[in-house]
This record gives sequence, structure tokens and C-alpha cells, in this order.
Amino acid sequence: MEMRPLALRDITEPTITMDCRKCGRHGELNVKRLRQRYGSDLLIAVLVEIASRDCEFRERGQTDRCGAFCGTLEAMKAAPDIGSGNAYARAKGGE
Ligand SMILES: [Zn+2]
Repeated sequence: MEMRPLALRDITEPTITMDCRKCGRHGELNVKRLRQRYGSDLLIAVLVEIASRDCEFRERGQTDRCGAFCGTLEAMKAAPDIGSGNAYARAKGGE
């Protein structure tokens, strides 16, 4: 099974969620708008970096970093079919 970093193009939901384990922030981001702004090739990991740039914990430096993560990405990683074609998209009835 090929595992590659997920990008915006892989997201089949209209929105993705961003959460932080440390500062407790939670947000939903519009995928269509993100694609228009950053392009479909933007990696979700990079998006997490961008979204957490203003986190109070991030500003404190390397030792106490922000715990930001993408809830949607975590869910997709947990899905057994991820990485094997578009099983996830088909299951969701997308595209
Ligand atoms: Zn944070």
C-alpha cells in the first residue's frame, strides 16, 4: 500500500477541521476556498502549520510547541482503505 502525504485534492469533505491539543482552538475550514487560495497540491501538514501560526504556544518556541492537528486528516489516516485508490471517496459518494 502506497502512503503519501495527503493534500487538499485528497479531501472529499466540503470542510476540514483544525484543532489544537494545547490551546484548545477549534475551527472548520472551507476546502474550496483553501484550494482557491493555496492550490490543490497544498499538503495538509503544511496547512496545519499555516493555521497554527498565530497560536500562543507556537510563539513560545520549540520546547512548548502548539499541538495543532487536522481532525479530518486523523480520521482519514484511521480509515483502512486510505492509500488504496479512491475507496474513501467512493464510500463518501464524492467525485
Ligand atoms: Zn495551539
